[in-house]
Amino acid sequence: MPLNIVVCVKDTPESLSIQVDPATRRVRHEGVKTAINPFDEYAVEEALRIKEKLPGTTTTVVSVGPPEAEGALREALSRGVESAVLVSGPEFAGSDTFATSKALAAAVRKLDLSQPVHLVLFGKSSNDGNSGIVGAQVAAWLKWPSAVSVKKVESVSDQGVTVTRMLEDGVDTLKLGLPACVSTVKEINEPRLPSLKGKLAAKKAAIPRWGAADLGLAAADAGSAGSLARIMSESLPPPRPGGMRVEGATPAEKAAKLVAILVERKLI
Ligand SMILES: Cc1cc2nc3c(=O)[nH]c(=O)nc-3n(C[C@H](O)[C@H](O)[C@H](O)COP(=O)(O)OP(=O)(O)OC[C@H]3O[C@@H](n4cnc5c(N)ncnc54)[C@H](O)[C@@H]3O)c2cc1C
Repeated sequence: MPLNIVVCVKDTPESLSIQVDPATRRVRHEGVKTAINPFDEYAVEEALRIKEKLPGTTTTVVSVGPPEAEGALREALSRGVESAVLVSGPEFAGSDTFATSKALAAAVRKLDLSQPVHLVLFGKSSNDGNSGIVGAQVAAWLKWPSAVSVKKVESVSDQGVTVTRMLEDGVDTLKLGLPACVSTVKEINEPRLPSLKGKLAAKKAAIPRWGAADLGLAAADAGSAGSLARIMSESLPPPRPGGMRVEGATPAEKAAKLVAILVERKLI
């Protein structure tokens, strides 16, 4: 049976362009180059692979973010996802993971009304907020089973999804009844590149925007009003001191000196 799959993708600053505003000590998002969160590319790829195995399966990407987050959605469309929705509006400003996951869950519920959603996929974490909890939170709001750190989808059908999870000291395999939420890790697959045809189609695709009212959320449920956390300060790690150069006439001599230094410092 074909499935309906939703993938949650976040638009995040490209890692090298993260800057902190010296005045507010908050990560600056304005004027910063953004892209699809790299970990979400694996979730998109997994949805596309399931679609290829189960013809008729539909895939939809959803993002909560400012208008620029359309870029991440179009990137997913260019790889073969059929439709996208952007959850956006000033009412979402200041959302913590609690409010963000509530908005994502409300979007999944709205999609579920037009055609039942079977599976919601997430990346491991975002490369800016890096909480790694939004997938599990969405599952909690929906009251659906959830698995995180999934490195392999063993099988999926209308009977359920069987996944292998990475644990700290091993792996385990579990079967979830559908609908379910699954957060993937980068070991799961190798994401494809977009095709030229896909890029052209993605450029033209219409992406509906849903605000809090479209999702049936009250003002108190969204943005800072609906959040439980407050950011006290944000900063980048201090710059690393310059490294050490190991001199030597040959690579073997350099390696021997390096080993001696590491032994002396009790690092090996
Ligand atoms: C008090 C407070 C105020 C904040 N205010 C803002 C703000 O004004 N604007 C702002 O942009 N951020 C804001 N943030 C950050 C925002 O809450 C997080 O970016 C968001 O909740 C996701 O958390 P994360 O990045 O840690 O995601 P993780 O939990 O690390 O992400 C896991 C996975 O969930 C999915 N996911 C995560 N976020 C989204 C999303 N937005 N859309 C779709 N899928 C997603 C992706 O699949 C991702 O791989 C604020 C945070 C706090 C604590």
